[in-house]
Amino acid sequence: MTTPDCHICGQEARLDALPPSERIVVDEHWRVAHAFDTALPGWLVLLPRRHVTAVHELTDAEAATLGTWQVRLSRALHEVTGCVKTYVAQFAEREGFSHVHFHVMPRRADLSQELRGPGMFALLGRPAPERVPAGLMDDIARSLHTRLTSSPEHPAAETEF
Ligand SMILES: [Zn+2]
Repeated sequence: MTTPDCHICGQEARLDALPPSERIVVDEHWRVAHAFDTALPGWLVLLPRRHVTAVHELTDAEAATLGTWQVRLSRALHEVTGCVKTYVAQFAEREGFSHVHFHVMPRRADLSQELRGPGMFALLGRPAPERVPAGLMDDIARSLHTRLTSSPEHPAAETEF
């Protein structure tokens, strides 16, 4: 169930052709991608695999693994980026991005004060020259993928690079 004018559904529709950064892990209900237009390495989005535009539209089955993914992604980001904590946020307000997406962002110890808290969103929607390069996004994706799929907590993760 996808919607043609939705960027996230567009990616879902061509899942097998996506680079590692767009399918870090994929299970029955959720896909994890690296945010494509961020200047912050490790900025992830946790995406329901069908088009929903509000959290209250998620099913019980989708909700059942939502919290687990938020915590497991936070653990993996802590291991891979060395961040001291993660931020988790969901708005889905930007034009073309009404599809629910939970941001999971690494907050490193050296992040400047003005970028802490909601200020971190200044690192999203950046012009191409400032974005995390595709090669680095894929490297981070592979590191996260390895940690997330080698764990006995979630043997069913099905993504293969
Ligand atoms: Zn969508």
